[in-house]
Formats: sequence, structure tokens, C-alpha cells
Amino acid sequence: MNYLFDQATLLPYLKEQKIPAFRAKQIRQAIYKESLLDIDDISTLSKDLRDKLKEDFVINDFTLKEKVEGPETTKFLFELADGKIIETVLMYHRHVKPEYEDEIKQRKILRSWTNHDISPETHKLNRITICISSQVGCAVWCIFCVTGKLGFKKNLPRQEIVLQIIYANNYIKGKFGKKEDGTRNKVRNVVFMGMGEPMLNYDEMVQSIHAMQDQTALWLSKRHITISTSGVADKIRQLIDDKIDVRLALSLHAPNQELRKELIPMIARRWDIDELMETIDYYTKSTGNRLFYEYIMIKDKTDTKVIGNQLGKLLKHRNGHVNLIPYNENPAMPDLETSDYDQIIKFKKTVESHGVTVTVRDTLGRDVKWACGQLWYEVIMKQRIEDMEADAEANTTES
Ligand code: SAH
Ligand code: SF4
Repeated sequence: MNYLFDQATLLPYLKEQKIPAFRAKQIRQAIYKESLLDIDDISTLSKDLRDKLKEDFVINDFTLKEKVEGPETTKFLFELADGKIIETVLMYHRHVKPEYEDEIKQRKILRSWTNHDISPETHKLNRITICISSQVGCAVWCIFCVTGKLGFKKNLPRQEIVLQIIYANNYIKGKFGKKEDGTRNKVRNVVFMGMGEPMLNYDEMVQSIHAMQDQTALWLSKRHITISTSGVADKIRQLIDDKIDVRLALSLHAPNQELRKELIPMIARRWDIDELMETIDYYTKSTGNRLFYEYIMIKDKTDTKVIGNQLGKLLKHRNGHVNLIPYNENPAMPDLETSDYDQIIKFKKTVESHGVTVTVRDTLGRDVKWACGQLWYEVIMKQRIEDMEADAEANTTES
């Protein structure tokens, strides 16, 4: 099956079938403006044309296996046409409504306010970020990551990367409807922080970015697309040389080669930290962009004062911003523990003492980390346990 939103297949097809070119515009309009997922819903096309298109095309071929709805996020687990599973997460950024500003301020002072109090009544939707997958599984094998545990299964083609956004826009339409100005709420920011190492699916990732930036398609701003990488230095260079103008986040996680080798062994062995940082300097010099450094907080491993000073020294003359991410504990890695909150704050101060800007991810950030294979892990484990139980049950009945 072909995807109706994929211009590379649609345009030659229309030409070959002698269907007038203005139909392509109507189709784009239906998918990108109206956020439709079903060919039958495209009312600007005749029934005959819809039936004809349906013989060769689909808009969506994902099956929703699981959806977890929270106040700040919606997490989707999709089954692809080939039966493999990916995760996509939507994150809602809300602003306090002006009429509630005083009340929220007061509640913050009284410490009776938590991030979970964010509600549609007191907060207005400001923007939506999507966290997308670029591969099924991942070959990099970082020791703290459940996606790595799954191993590498496949590279997503550009259409399956883009469909995550198209699907999400359709979902957002149902959930939020239109904005006050009559336009539709849509995904504004894209981060490649779901399953997989995007730089190891470089060509499809780049093609999907072109589709995201296409003014006749998703039309996302280059400032609103971020690639997160574990440090595939060759591809970071290629990205600069190919002039793919997007934001970069580096999952650094360790300021020295030994610790990096322990946490991200495959990548650290291939490119040592000096080579990686040289590449990063080339990126900031060539693009003028600020870099985001992702840094995981694992108790007694990445969070000590000595390490904090090393991190501060490494980054002090580099134009970047550090995000401290509390390690998301999960049963796949029973030996690792998340750092204590006090320790995270001490670590933050140590790094800041070198003049580096640091933020600790709030609850939203913590939620984001669920993107990296954790929902997958839960659902698959649940399925496995259920299968095992059913198996045991069947055996008992037989005997
Ligand atoms: N492969 C890319 C992008 C996907 S991972 C990368 O590694 O950057 C997105 C982020 O989640 C990375 O910063 C990764 O290090 C982090 N992550 C993975 N497992 C985590 C866990 N258990 N707790 C907290 N962050 C985790
Ligand atoms: Fe792959 Fe990123 Fe997970 Fe490492 S953290 S295993 S690179 S998805």
C-alpha cells in the first residue's frame, strides 16, 4: 500500500491515471489542514475517486494498541502494518489563565500546588510537542534504556515517521477542537526522542524532516524540530554538511570517557569523548545554534560532586544548556537507582558554579522519558505474563 500523503508516490500516480493535478492540492488540504485519516472522509473528492484511490492508497495503517491519557501527556502504542510496535507521545504545554494567576501564585506560596494540578479549567493550552520514534528498538544498547534492551528491529521509513504526526493531529482535533481564532490546534514541536537512534536511520530521518518543513505539508519551523542523539559523531558532521537546519540534543550522560564507556559502551568505543566534543564544537560554530545536553541522574554513578565539576569544566566554554533527567527506574534494570532529589539539586549547583546553565526536568520532562521504550516495556511484559499464565492454565487443565 502507498500513503496518500506521500507526494513522491501520489503525484506520478495522478499523472499516470490522468487525474487533474488540483486533486493533489485537495488531498493535501484534507490531510494537513483538516487532519483527516480516512480517505472516505475527504468530502471534496467524488465517491468514485475515493473508491479508486482506496485501491492503491491509505492515509493511516497504524493500529492503536494502547493509549495512556494523562493531564500533560497522551502516550500511544502503535502496531505498524508489519506487526511491529512503536511509541509516540504527545506533551501538552499549558499556561495559567489570567483569571487564575493570583490563585495559582498563592497556592504555590502555600506549597499546595503541584504540576499535576494543571487542568483545562485553570490552564489554557499553549503548544503541543510530539515525541516520535525513528526505529523499532535500538542497536545502541545504552545500559539504562529499555529500548536498547529490545535490540534493533527495523528502521522506520519516512512515511511511518511522518504518519505519527499526522495521526497525532487527527487525535488533537478530536480532543481540543479549534483555537479561539478558528484555526486548529496542531503539533508545533517535534522531538526525535522516542524509540531508536535517529542518526542511525539518517536518510529516512532527513527525508521525514523535509516533509515536516514542507510549506505545503506539515510546515513546521526548523526551530521546532529537535534531533536527540547518543553521539553518532559522523552523522552529526553529515547533518551540518547537508545543511539540515534543526536543533540538536546530545545525550551526553557522562563527562569522561570511562563513565561514557560504562553507560553508552557502543558509541563511546567508536567515538571517544574528545572526538565527540570536537564534532559538537563544529556543530555550534557552523550553525550558531545552542546545544542541549541531556544528562541522566543515576545514584552514585553520574551524580557525584567530582563528576559535577568535570561536567562543568567540560561545558563551561561551550554554548549549551544542560537538562538533568532523573533516571526513570524500570524493572529491566534492577541495579540502577534514580538520584535523590537533594543530590540532584546539589549536582545542579556544582555544574552551575562553572557558569553553565542547568535545568532539572519537571514532571513533564519525567513523563517524556516514558517515551523511550518504557510504555512498550510495560505492555509487552503484561502481554508476556498473560500469555505465560494462559499457558500455565492450559497445562493444568490438560494434566
Ligand atoms: N536515541 C536517542 C533518542 C531517543 S532516547 C538518544 O539516546 O538521545 C531519548 C532520551 O531518553 C535520551 O536522552 C535517553 O538517554 C533518555 N533515556 C533513555 N532511557 C532512560 C531512562 N531509563 N531514564 C531516563 N532517561 C532515559
Ligand atoms: Fe538507543 Fe537512545 Fe535508548 Fe541509547 S538511549 S539505547 S541510543 S534509544
